[in-house]
Amino acid sequence: MTLTVTHCAPCFQGEWVWVDPGIGVPIGARVKLTDTGHQLLVDDEGKEHKLSQKEEGSIRVMHPTSVEGVDDMIRLGDLNEAGLLRNLLVRHRQGIIYTYTGSVLVAVNPYQELPLYTADQVRLYHGRRLGELPPHVFAIADTCYFNMRRHNRDHVTFQCCGRCSLDGESGAGKTESTKLVLQFLAAVSGQHSWIEQQILEANPILEAFGNAKTIRNDNSSRFGKYVEIFFNKDGAIEGARMEQYLLEKSRVCHQAMEERNYHIFYCMLAGMTTEQKKTLCLGNAAEFSYLKRGDCIVCDGRDDAKDYTRIRTALKILAFTETHCWEILKLLAALLHLGNVSFEATILNNMESSDVSLSDHFTFAAKLLEVQPAALAVSLTYRSFMTNRERVSKPLNSEQAADSRDAFVKAIYGKLFIWIVGRINSAIHKTPTNGPKYVRNSIGLLDIFGFENFDSNSFEQLCINFANEQLQQFFVRHVFKLEQEEYTKEDIVWKNITFSDNTDTLDLLAVKPLNVLALIDEESHFPKGTDVTMLNKMNRAHAKCNKYIPSKNTHDMEFGIRHFAGVVHYDSNGFLEKNRDALNSGILKLIEASTNTLLQQLFEKERQVSTLSGQFRQSLDSLMNALSKCQPHFIRCFKPNDDKKSMVFDRNLCIRQLRYSGMIDTIKIRKLGFPIRHTFKQFLQRYRVLLNTTVCDPKTVILIHCRSLGWKSIVLMEICSYLLFFYRLDHMYLLLLGSFLLL
Ligand code: ATP
Ligand code: MG
Repeated sequence: MTLTVTHCAPCFQGEWVWVDPGIGVPIGARVKLTDTGHQLLVDDEGKEHKLSQKEEGSIRVMHPTSVEGVDDMIRLGDLNEAGLLRNLLVRHRQGIIYTYTGSVLVAVNPYQELPLYTADQVRLYHGRRLGELPPHVFAIADTCYFNMRRHNRDHVTFQCCGRCSLDGESGAGKTESTKLVLQFLAAVSGQHSWIEQQILEANPILEAFGNAKTIRNDNSSRFGKYVEIFFNKDGAIEGARMEQYLLEKSRVCHQAMEERNYHIFYCMLAGMTTEQKKTLCLGNAAEFSYLKRGDCIVCDGRDDAKDYTRIRTALKILAFTETHCWEILKLLAALLHLGNVSFEATILNNMESSDVSLSDHFTFAAKLLEVQPAALAVSLTYRSFMTNRERVSKPLNSEQAADSRDAFVKAIYGKLFIWIVGRINSAIHKTPTNGPKYVRNSIGLLDIFGFENFDSNSFEQLCINFANEQLQQFFVRHVFKLEQEEYTKEDIVWKNITFSDNTDTLDLLAVKPLNVLALIDEESHFPKGTDVTMLNKMNRAHAKCNKYIPSKNTHDMEFGIRHFAGVVHYDSNGFLEKNRDALNSGILKLIEASTNTLLQQLFEKERQVSTLSGQFRQSLDSLMNALSKCQPHFIRCFKPNDDKKSMVFDRNLCIRQLRYSGMIDTIKIRKLGFPIRHTFKQFLQRYRVLLNTTVCDPKTVILIHCRSLGWKSIVLMEICSYLLFFYRLDHMYLLLLGSFLLL
């Protein structure tokens, strides 16, 4: 017997249906009858669709759950992309920003202050079971906290992820959600202790040095962050540890139009006293080349001077001394002055070379870095390297000298950032006092960059996308595992269900012999290795891999990878230099000779053996290792539109986020198994008419009937209930039909 249940009988006035306006995903619409008796559909966007007679018979009626929207998308009758999307839309219109998809929380950025995070709300959500109250970020935070306390020694991790896609979902609310979880945990752990305050105050510092205004987000995090919060056996916060990943160093020297450098630069210039600025020879932001590349000095809605006071307070709370703060300011000022240093082209022994154009900025930079001006000039305009026997110096032309200056500045800023995180950790990360056997409970918060695919993608994007592939695999496997556990709990046989994840892409990137990252690393260690030799090796090794897209010809420097979120083409120019992450040895010598103690400290560990991808992989491995030992929870942050508007819901943007965030995977996995689930009580309510029973205890009734009728009958009953719904048969018909099928 075949049953087609997707088509329905003619619809009634006011009824909700699905209509496909040819944009890929059906949209909700309401039936309106015209004066002439024809059906007209008014869709969710208010557009009217006339229907041909043929179409009139083939409209799909909307399941009641999709009409009003539901708290948990898994409960949707229309468990598909259109259903998920409309659910978010309906709720967004009602001003509801949180929705569950099973255990995953979807948070849609409201782009307005909502009264959702008050002390009353904290009290309301504390100690309640998930699902008891409307979805909320506090509900997830409380579940984490509760589970951690109940399974005392279990480490519970909380992952706060958003995805950046083609247009970038930067600004989706990852960092805000992380802060809200932290705020909740601090409130429920209830100590108002110094350590709690220190942990909370770490944020303004990290954001000052690691966040910037971009076109997508006025406070965009330009680094990844994992914060682990430790609790004692009474559930009180007793410390934390932060890990940072891949700060975008290039921003210190270049910004796209309408974007800014890191907040700290503008804040210090707006907030320091005239006296201090004079000592550091600083003026206004507009005077510094590094601060105006994006032609954007002021960020609407931010008060740089006020933020500066806040940062200084936070630094004090985190035990940065006055001397530390002054040394940091000195170094930042040196970077700004360096940015204003220019180079003149010269010819030396018939070779292109350059000289520093002498200026006050150059003198100030040398003074603040505490190096000899002549030594600074030489290290910027020459590249020195070791041959087999001796150190050789090669003059740089003016463009190369400017690049070498920028590399110096980026290295200093990158190391300063890592140093600051290290100092924060030394203030908030206390080793447990209760002896070596003492195990702490912790909750980890991951706020990390999403998938990136720009017009031009480089080595950083490869690293970021590699991290996202790993997290995606972790997510999908977790959802799969949860499903499996659910079936095991119910003694349901689960077999022959396979879900293809992104293993192939991960194999290509980092597992199989001669994988992409290994090849990049290998070539970085060859002194003669170039981007071209690296690319040739990659093309040869992976020619047959369907996840790899080789360069088109010998001049093409691009290669492509099929990621879970789409194909990304990478421009391999500059890969090796970025991966080697090594400073010109002349500059290293200059730093060694400097009397600036902070500068010396920053570069103490410069004798690193590892490449950038090596370091990143190491920290990613330890992250994945930590995650694998934890009970993860996921918050998927969504951006409703690209214009930071509160009431606009961009369907195309949201459907992409649903796909990239793994929500569609979640429902696919559920559909592979047993998507329709009822509690005994719901089951009885739904099928009472068929079961024809007077027994009241739902479980007893159902078990008796299931044993006598078998599961196949239940499937038939489910079909009947669909018939009831789609053809609007009344119960009498259904009873007859059901009895007939059951016979
Ligand atoms: P990026 O990847 O660029 O770091 P993000 O996902 O961390 O982006 P956030 O900085 O958290 O994005 O959010 C961007 C802005 O959206 C915030 O500065 C805030 O104005 C607004 N926002 C986010 N979440 C909320 C919320 N729950 N309530 C009110 N406003 C919010
Ligand atoms: Mg952020």
